Amino acid sequence: MPTYSYSCRDCGTSFDIQQAFTDDALTVCPNCGGSLRKVFGTRNELTFPVSGTGSAGMEAALANVVEPGDLVIIGVNGVFGGRMVEMAKRMGERDDDGTIPF
Ligand SMILES: [Zn+2]
Repeated sequence: MPTYSYSCRDCGTSFDIQQAFTDDALTVCPNCGGSLRKVFGTRNELTFPVSGTGSAGMEAALANVVEPGDLVIIGVNGVFGGRMVEMAKRMGERDDDGTIPF
């Protein structure tokens, strides 16, 4: 059963609670009756979920760290590694395209 984090928009109370995947999200603050928001593993006010495939998540992660000219080292051991290489190339990583067998 996963643990979810909540934060109150009104009083700032934050807490974690174990809930089943099928349970409805909590909406009312137990402290003040205010409005709760679900926090996805962070207390950052700008957190937002992105619905998508694993590849979409991988691309979002790369897009946040790769800048043109960066050297990116990716272990390729299947389709997803190759896909990650293609994503990094599109983001302008340094195109050394070196392959080291392991
Ligand atoms: Zn509250």
